[in-house]
Amino acid sequence: MERTLSIIKPDGVKKNIIGEVIKRFQDEKINIVAIKMIKLSKEEAKGFYAVHMERPFFDSLTNFMTSGPIVVMVLEGNDVIARNRKLMGATNFKEADEGTIRKDFATDIEKNVVHGSDAPETAAFEISYFFNALEIAG
Ligand code: ATP
Ligand code: MG
Repeated sequence: MERTLSIIKPDGVKKNIIGEVIKRFQDEKINIVAIKMIKLSKEEAKGFYAVHMERPFFDSLTNFMTSGPIVVMVLEGNDVIARNRKLMGATNFKEADEGTIRKDFATDIEKNVVHGSDAPETAAFEISYFFNALEIAG
C-alpha cells in the first residue's frame, strides 16, 4: 500500500471542479484517507515547492499557489503515486493525454489544476508538510 499527496490548486477550486477531481479518484478505486481546504501563505508555498527554488517560475508559482484556497488530500492504494500522476496528465496540459484532469481542465502550464507527489520520498515529505498522523484515517 502506498500514499501520495494530491492538491487541487487555486485554479481548480475556482473552476468548481473539486467534486469532479474527487470523482475521478473514486472511479479509479483510489481511497482518500485525509482531506482539508486551506489557504497557503507565501512562506508556506515556498517551503512546499523548495525543490523548485532555482527555477525561473518559482516566484510566479508560489504567488499562484497562494492566490486562493486549495484542497489537500492524502490518497492511498497500490501504486497510487503513478496512478495519480496518470490521472493528472503531463505538467503541460498541451502534452497531456486525452481524458486526463489537466487535458480536460488546465489552461496554462502553471495553472494546471492539480499536484501529485512524484516519488515515495517526495510523497512522505509532502504528506507530513500538511498532515500529522492524527489527521490521516486508516
Ligand atoms: P506538480 O509538482 O505540481 O504535481 P509536476 O510534477 O507535473 O507538477 P513540476 O515540474 O514539479 O511539475 O513543476 C511544479 C509546478 O510548477 C507545475 O505543476 C506547474 O504548476 C509549475 N511549472 C512547471 N513548469 C513550469 C513552467 N515552465 N512555467 C511555469 N510554471 C511551471
Ligand atoms: Mg512535481
